[in-house]
Amino acid sequence: MMDVTALGELLIDFTPAGNSENGNARFERNPGGAPANVLAALAKLGKKGAFIGKVGDDQFGRFLESVLRDNGIDTSGLVLSREYQTTLAFVHLNPDGDRSFSFYRRNGADMMLEEKEVRYDLIKGAKIFHFGSVSMTDDPSRTATLKAASYAKQQGVLVSYDPNLRLPLWSDASVAKQTISEGLRFADILKISEEELEFLTGAAGLSEGSETLFAQYRIPLILVTLGEKGCFIRKGNETAAVQGYPVKAVDTTGAGDGFLGGMLYQLLESGVSLDQLSMERIADMVRFANAVGALATTKKGAIPAMPTLEEVRALMRADSE
Ligand code: ADP
Repeated sequence: MMDVTALGELLIDFTPAGNSENGNARFERNPGGAPANVLAALAKLGKKGAFIGKVGDDQFGRFLESVLRDNGIDTSGLVLSREYQTTLAFVHLNPDGDRSFSFYRRNGADMMLEEKEVRYDLIKGAKIFHFGSVSMTDDPSRTATLKAASYAKQQGVLVSYDPNLRLPLWSDASVAKQTISEGLRFADILKISEEELEFLTGAAGLSEGSETLFAQYRIPLILVTLGEKGCFIRKGNETAAVQGYPVKAVDTTGAGDGFLGGMLYQLLESGVSLDQLSMERIADMVRFANAVGALATTKKGAIPAMPTLEEVRALMRADSE
């Protein structure tokens, strides 16, 4: 049995890597895609994950497949397409230090995953199903994603959802809001940022925004991540805040995915259902998740930055001394 099966985008992130001797910009080929990062975080902590998605049957797609495999992730649900190419995203550093992106995703393989290509057996055979919203920007992967989440829910598999709003990938903001909200119907565990909470609910405060989501969708566990400040928790009518760990952040890519990997690890370890967990116990789990998220910022990249159990425990110990 799988611990966690995740479905979604898998692509190459080309990040700036200085200039060549000819003065031309260099880019580094990084594996990208939040759902796979969550699985990598879990694998590093010792949990078994499977990935469902689509890449091109090209150099980049085969590279991504090997990265997942090398990180102990089951790739039997990864489709390598002869028809579509692996999606690419280039990150540019502007002179003012801001980042901008160029996406090469028109007919990109990641959004061409079809409903009939989804390995439902990998979902049914997992304790947790995880998905995000980047795979819902366009069809056919929008339908495939929602179908998979609905199937997981129907089968009684615990459903984890990270809306992960990337506005430039959507045709317009109202479509993004409506589609992302459809995913909320299936979520048992929702990991959301402060900005995403405001985008989806229109409410400015953490308590108010999460209350709106709970009232509408009855999501059992809502985790609002707050960067270095940690996390705000809502479990029904109860709320709590858990502080983050002070670390020297080098690259925050993958912090949220590390955090969620840490939280899912704790839920798997507990072996009980969400309604059996007290707020005190959940806050302890979130402390662990915060440590995973914090450590993920201390190294460059997402997958290579995911910490081991020993590293997480060491940070938690050092903090309590
Ligand atoms: P996302 O990457 O999804 O935007 P956040 O930036 O809120 O999510 O990070 C997720 C979690 O990772 C936070 O809740 C926190 O526990 C941890 N984290 C993120 N950035 C830092 C940081 N600079 N210092 C310490 N912990 C951090």
